[in-house]
Amino acid sequence: MTGWILKCSQCGREWVLPVSFRLNEIGRLYHFCPYCRENTFHTTVGREP
Ligand SMILES: [Zn+2]
Repeated sequence: MTGWILKCSQCGREWVLPVSFRLNEIGRLYHFCPYCRENTFHTTVGREP
């Protein structure tokens, strides 16, 4: 799966968001966390090849 590895600032889990645009230029992303089941802040950890 191609995408970005995001880390949720609330639960600390890492998961992959399957998008191709340059998330690393945003820095912090407010997005729905599949573990918290709510919108939380995420940081980009890296690129999923
Ligand atoms: Zn979370």
